[in-house]
Amino acid sequence: MVTPNAKIYGKYNSAEAYQLRDFLTRSGVVVEWSELNSDEEAKRLGASGLSDARLPICVLSQGSVLFRPTIRDLAAALDWFREPKHQDYDVAICGAGPAGLSAAVYAASEGLRTIVVERSAVGGQAASTSRIENYLGFPDGISGWELSTKARQQAQRFGAEIIVTAEGIGLGFDNGSLVGHLAGGGKIVTRAAICATGVEYAKLGLPNEERFLNHGLFYGAGPSEAVLSEGHVFIVGGGNSAGQAALHFAAYAERVTLLVRGQHLEDTLSTYLLERIEHSERIEVRTQSVLTSLEGGDSLTGITYKSCLTGEETCAKTQGVFVCIGGRPRTDWITPGPLYTDSAGYILTGDDLEGMEPPIGFWLDGRRPMLRESSMPGLFAAGDVRHNSIKRVATAVGEGATAVSMVHQYLSLKRRPLDYQNL
Ligand SMILES: Cc1cc2nc3c(=O)[nH]c(=O)nc-3n(C[C@H](O)[C@H](O)[C@H](O)COP(=O)(O)OP(=O)(O)OC[C@H]3O[C@@H](n4cnc5c(N)ncnc54)[C@H](O)[C@@H]3O)c2cc1C
Repeated sequence: MVTPNAKIYGKYNSAEAYQLRDFLTRSGVVVEWSELNSDEEAKRLGASGLSDARLPICVLSQGSVLFRPTIRDLAAALDWFREPKHQDYDVAICGAGPAGLSAAVYAASEGLRTIVVERSAVGGQAASTSRIENYLGFPDGISGWELSTKARQQAQRFGAEIIVTAEGIGLGFDNGSLVGHLAGGGKIVTRAAICATGVEYAKLGLPNEERFLNHGLFYGAGPSEAVLSEGHVFIVGGGNSAGQAALHFAAYAERVTLLVRGQHLEDTLSTYLLERIEHSERIEVRTQSVLTSLEGGDSLTGITYKSCLTGEETCAKTQGVFVCIGGRPRTDWITPGPLYTDSAGYILTGDDLEGMEPPIGFWLDGRRPMLRESSMPGLFAAGDVRHNSIKRVATAVGEGATAVSMVHQYLSLKRRPLDYQNL
C-alpha cells in the first residue's frame, strides 16, 4: 500500500483536527498541518469562514477533499476500511497492536484465513511511541509508526485482512463457531479468535478532564503534537512512556516538565532514558508532585500542581498536558460472564484458570484451557491485555506468535463438532 500524504486545515485547538492528525500520524501518513487564521483563508478552501462547522478540512494527496471527516470517513477515503471479504475465517484477531500484528503475520503465513479488526489505527500503543530503542534488531531504535507500518505490510503480504476503524463490541458462540460483532452492525464468523486489545490510557480523575480532552489535555505521548509544541509542555507520569514523551517533546518545546507522583524516577524509568533526561537542559523533573487542576476556557491555558511533600501549589501556563500514567485493559467489549478476568479486568488464560469451574456449557470435551486460551474455548489472549503479561513490544510480539501456535492445536481438536451453548 502506498502511503499517502495529507494536509489538514483548521483551528489549532480543534479536538477534531487533533484526532485526524493523531490517527494519520500513527498510521504512518506524513501530515502537514495548516492553521487557518482568517475567514478569507477558510473561504479559499470552500468553507464559509472560520466559524464554519465543516472545519477541519482534510486534503489527501490522491485528491479527496474531506470536510470535518470522522476517522471512519478518512479510513474509507484512504481505502483502509472494507467489509470482510469472506463469510468465515480460521482466526479473527481483535486489536492491531504489536501482539495482534504479530499474530496476523504468523497466522496468515502459516496458511490460516486471517482477519484483524482494529478500532483505531494499526500499531496500538507502540505506534504512539516516538522511538522504541529496546526492540531486538534495531540498534538505533525504530519509531513506533515505522515498526507498525512494516508489520502491517508484512501481515498483508501473507494475505491477512486488516480492517481499521472497526471496533469489536461483542463475542459469542453460534453453532460451534465464534461470532464477533462489530460496531455498526457487521459480524465475523470464525473458528478461533485472539484478543489482543491491549490497555487504554488511565485518566487523571480531575474535574474538567472531559472538557479539555484533546483541547490541550491528551492521553498518551501525542506523537503528532510534538512538532506543534512551542511553549511549556507538561508530561504526567514516571514510566518509560512518559520518559520517552518528555525527550521527544524536548526537541520542539521551549520547556518540558515531567510531573511524577513517586519519589525516585529511577524506580520506574529505564536507565538509558533517565540518563538522557538528566542531561537535557529543557526537561525538569518534579517528583512527588501531582496535577490538581486544569484551567482555561475553550481550551487548556494553565494547570496547578501540588507537592505531595510540602503541600505547596504551583500554577503554570501551558497549552499542552500529556498524560502517560498507564492504563486499564480493554476487555469490557467481550460478553461479560463467560470471560474470566482478574479483578483489574486482565484476561486469565491457561494455568491461571486452574481450579476454577469452567463456564457452564463449555469444555464439553473435558479438556483444560491451553496456554494463552481463555475461559471461552477457542478465544486466546495475547499481549498487554493478558493477566500477568510483561508490558513490552517484544513480549507482545512473542505472545501473538505463541497464541497462533495454540490456535493450530485448537483447530486440530475442533475438527470434531463441538456443541457450545449459544451466548
Ligand atoms: C508511549 C509509550 C511508549 C512505549 N515504549 C516502549 C518501548 O520503548 N519498548 C517497549 O518494549 N514497550 C514500550 N511500550 C509498551 C508497548 O507499546 C506495549 O507493551 C505494546 O504496545 C502492547 O502491545 P499489545 O498489542 O498487547 O497492545 P496495544 O499496543 O495496546 O494494542 C492494542 C490495540 O487494540 C485495539 N483495540 C482495543 N479495543 C479494541 C476493540 N474493541 N476492537 C478493535 N480494536 C481494539 C487498540 O486500538 C490498539 O490498537 C510503550 C508504551 C507507550 C504507551
